[in-house]
Amino acid sequence: IPMDLIDQTSIMAALKKAEPDEIYNLAAQSFVGVSFDEAIATGEVGALGVTRLLDSMRFMAPKAHFYQASTSEMYGLTPGPQDEMTRFAPQSPYAAAKLYGHWVTQNYRTGYGLHASTGILFNHESPIRGIEFVTKKITDGVARIKMGYIPEIYLGNLDAKRDWGFAGDYVEAMWMMLQQKNPDDYVIATGETHSVREFAEAAFEHVGLDWKKYVKQKQEFMRPLEVPHLEGNPAKAKEKLGWTPKVSFKELVAMMVDADIEKYQNPTKHSEQFLKHI
Ligand code: GDP
Repeated sequence: IPMDLIDQTSIMAALKKAEPDEIYNLAAQSFVGVSFDEAIATGEVGALGVTRLLDSMRFMAPKAHFYQASTSEMYGLTPGPQDEMTRFAPQSPYAAAKLYGHWVTQNYRTGYGLHASTGILFNHESPIRGIEFVTKKITDGVARIKMGYIPEIYLGNLDAKRDWGFAGDYVEAMWMMLQQKNPDDYVIATGETHSVREFAEAAFEHVGLDWKKYVKQKQEFMRPLEVPHLEGNPAKAKEKLGWTPKVSFKELVAMMVDADIEKYQNPTKHSEQFLKHI
């Protein structure tokens, strides 16, 4: 069923047709770096899009359970560990738009009694992560270096710290939120933080290479503003939802590197799109 978050009528029509029990709003321009170049479009979908969806839901599917994908980027400059009560200080148009979406979801929950929950998800990764993100850029680079296709990779800030978890675990948490009697806000994270440098070190180490020989820095991958330290405290999700992440940092890195190596070793199994940047 086609639907566009900037077109209210299309949302109403889609909800009428689908008669949903659960609505998961994951739609956004979600690349932090790109949001500086496309700030208006990022706000149009990430902030107002949520409002349009909630407003449509109010009339077309008021009994449905709603999930809003909030993000740890909303914490911005406030250092970790971060939980549901931590002060927000967004550092990008993406984060500012998401914070609007976060608060407007709470407004519709308290104002109109909708079953609307938010998940403040920390970075969640998997083998199908887009190449725009640093984890995939590194694991894809490791595979291409290992195969002898390229000599090195270029990154920006190596000191930034992120709480990286496995996307599969996090999607389970989203679903759990919508099975609760009452809607609420939850931090979903591993509780463990690592620098970009540590991620690169672990990824190269997994194939027996020393990252220092293959990772170079380039100014063009630095951001105008940076979020230095994300480290979530998932205690509330653990206590109320019974959720804990199953995949560790090391397992996640290994899973992503192995998948990228397999992709280049068996190119015929994978689409042209995957291979176009060899
Ligand atoms: P984000 O946390 O949603 O912004 O996820 P990203 O994977 O895009 O970025 C995580 C961190 O890695 C940020 O602090 C970036 O500044 C840093 N980083 C360093 N080099 C790169 C790079 O080449 N690409 C990206 N995307 N991020 C980089």
